[in-house]
Amino acid sequence: MSDYLMTPGQRSLREEVRNFVREDVSRQLLLDMDAEKIHYPRQYIEDLAAKHLLGLRFPPEWGGRGLNWAHEVLVLEEIGVLGASLACLYSLPSIVGEAINCFGSGELKERYLKSITAGKMTVAEALTEPRGGSDFFGATATLKQEGDVYILNGQKRFIVGAEGADLFLVYARSNPDVSSHKAISALLVERSEGVEVQHVYGLMGTRGGGTGRVYFRDVQVPVRNLIGQENGAYEVFNQMMLPERMTSAAGAIGLARAALEISTRYADRRKAFGQKVREFEGVSFKIAESLTRLDAARALVHETARIIDTIGNSGYVRRMVSEAKKFATETAWAVVNDAMQIMGGIGYTNVYPIERLLRDARLMTIWTGTNEIMNLVIQHEYFKEILLTTPAVRDVEGDAQNADAEGEKVFE
Ligand SMILES: Cc1cc2nc3c(=O)[nH]c(=O)nc-3n(C[C@H](O)[C@H](O)[C@H](O)COP(=O)(O)OP(=O)(O)OC[C@H]3O[C@@H](n4cnc5c(N)ncnc54)[C@H](O)[C@@H]3O)c2cc1C
Repeated sequence: MSDYLMTPGQRSLREEVRNFVREDVSRQLLLDMDAEKIHYPRQYIEDLAAKHLLGLRFPPEWGGRGLNWAHEVLVLEEIGVLGASLACLYSLPSIVGEAINCFGSGELKERYLKSITAGKMTVAEALTEPRGGSDFFGATATLKQEGDVYILNGQKRFIVGAEGADLFLVYARSNPDVSSHKAISALLVERSEGVEVQHVYGLMGTRGGGTGRVYFRDVQVPVRNLIGQENGAYEVFNQMMLPERMTSAAGAIGLARAALEISTRYADRRKAFGQKVREFEGVSFKIAESLTRLDAARALVHETARIIDTIGNSGYVRRMVSEAKKFATETAWAVVNDAMQIMGGIGYTNVYPIERLLRDARLMTIWTGTNEIMNLVIQHEYFKEILLTTPAVRDVEGDAQNADAEGEKVFE
């Protein structure tokens, strides 16, 4: 959002988080995470909590600030400057917390949501399985009730934060006899006997955030840890996709903004053929193009945030959220890629962080639902909107010379 449109409260929140990003996150942390000397930066979560920056949208009684999405996306953009790992770890309390806040009992909120926002309990979200992530409802992890516990078995992979998480939000098949959409349950699983996390991935970027593979072997989970109804994960999933995708979208803008700023300053100093490279259109127009795209992506993210704040969840909201995730992450990829081009060879080295940001940005079009899956949602919801309504303003189809030639309107 433009500074000129921010409320004083939004401006001061942004200042708070900018201070955190500037003062409380060391350069060494970023370098050590990228070098995988650090596998999970727990202290970072605790520092965020100490500044009361986790779970901003949740009610104060559960440790949040009772703010809305319009505020959270502002904060996410600032945190996004730190790269995808720290942005994702910042987002996980918002994502997992959403499930607890919307569907959890008072007891679960007291026990878990309060601890999450206080930075006492770290979380991960475990949806994706080795057999596939896009086809989420094909999940094969199983849940079987035995008295007042469920027995959980299965595997999840690519789980950010897994290495350090105290608590996992897990989706598993609780009814083998009905269609997938009515067979999956969501529940909170504490790190306990039978939960094993393995560090198996050599990631291109987004390192140091504890991305692991998780095995659940006969894990006993209290029935009271169920989120929503048994077999009701479809509803939970539909709600959680809002924070999951909005956090990706808003974080991507911060990451791209950082790369654009670095390359713009560089273009003002670097000389070739006796002049600053910014004086070549080939360079300065890339900056103009990147800035325009970034402003457009930010506008879409903020508009979507305000729509969620106004109407909650719906097919239309899921379309907007998918558009925002797709457009912001594709924009981020293009902007960081152009930033590297603007900087020439030095941009490809670790003298500047552009190469790290590029490696991070690449993931953003894949995770939290690939951008192909975003397209699937967008077209699906749009067809529904169009086909369920008659033309809203006027019958534009009739504004053609030969519009009455019904015999020419052949569809089969
Ligand atoms: C570093 C990293 C961190 C991650 N963090 C998490 C996490 O914290 N928690 C979690 O649960 N998951 C996480 N993921 C998983 C991520 O969300 C999935 O990788 C992603 O959803 C894609 O699933 P997949 O890898 O199984 O690809 P697949 O589902 O196998 O897809 C392969 C290709 O087919 C395309 N495709 C599939 N179905 C369709 C369709 N219907 N229409 C068009 N194209 C289609 C996809 O777009 C993709 O291009 C992470 C992944 C990575 C790499």
